[in-house]
Amino acid sequence: MTEELDERVLDGNVLDGNAVGDLIRNELRECIATLEDEGVTPGLATVLMSEDPASETYVSMKQRACEDLGIESFHRELSPDAPAEELFDVVDSMNENPDVHGILVQMPVPDHVDKRRVLRSIDPAKDVDGFHPTNVGRLVAGDARFKPCTPHGVQKLLEAADIDTEGKEAVVVGRSDIVGKPMANLLIQKAPGGNATTTVCHSRTADLGEKTREADIVIAAAGYPELVDGEMIREGAVVIDVGVNRVDADNEKGYKLVGDVDFESASEKASVITPVPGGVGPMTITMLLFNTVKAASLQEDVPVELP
Ligand code: NAD
Repeated sequence: MTEELDERVLDGNVLDGNAVGDLIRNELRECIATLEDEGVTPGLATVLMSEDPASETYVSMKQRACEDLGIESFHRELSPDAPAEELFDVVDSMNENPDVHGILVQMPVPDHVDKRRVLRSIDPAKDVDGFHPTNVGRLVAGDARFKPCTPHGVQKLLEAADIDTEGKEAVVVGRSDIVGKPMANLLIQKAPGGNATTTVCHSRTADLGEKTREADIVIAAAGYPELVDGEMIREGAVVIDVGVNRVDADNEKGYKLVGDVDFESASEKASVITPVPGGVGPMTITMLLFNTVKAASLQEDVPVELP
């Protein structure tokens, strides 16, 4: 990626996730062409058991991104009232389908479905979200098969902007299983994109600002609108905003999306900052495509040069 760093990636201090995502997707197209030459079309199965409009939007964005790249998309929708066993049957059939290389069950699932059992039910070789306990363990052990898409996307954003994490003080705000924890695990690995001295802050952190002000790199993933402002970061810090929050707005929709960072004040001090939308979001989908291509390559034993 570094050789491909061009002016589209950084506009002043604003790091453009759409531009970085496009560069990676173009390289993935080449991987898919290599797979196609060997008669393999990568396939991603999405399973939706929710009528939540945000979940529906996320799934259709993922399907569209697949189609655009030439990844075959398999989709199953279940009523949120359906018995849990129906979902497990669908996952089993996807596990057994040789045309499906990656499986994604859109979270959250309804309360009557055991979420942890869902994560365990997906074949770890097809677990392109990287949430199966086997894949979580491999990530922690420094032998990742599928890095979870959002933190992996953050790593790729940093790499694209030529930001070396080695020896840096990194502060991750949030300790969720899908963002905060895997992000911290990636940052502490003795590997490229790692080697950072990493602090994880969460809802019980006594003084968040005291921690973030010490950081060279702040990664905000708290799900709390504009939690991190300019007062809470040091001059020249790199600020990555994972948050996507709906707040009321005086417009047609009645709401707007804001991040966990107060962009206006933070961008005055940050050396590099990601916007919301257009920062981490497009990278999450890009890394899902990456994991699907990787899954197809591993399962079909066709080597590809992943970006
Ligand atoms: P989550 O609710 O599961 O976890 C939030 C974490 O933040 C918790 O660990 C909590 O301890 C911590 N937290 C909450 N308030 C805090 C505070 N005041 N100070 C310090 N820590 C605090 O959320 P999540 O799934 O990790 O997602 C976080 C945010 O990232 C959400 O806004 C979500 O929509 C967004 N997100 C975006 C993408 C993307 O692709 N852009 C992907 C995943 C999540």
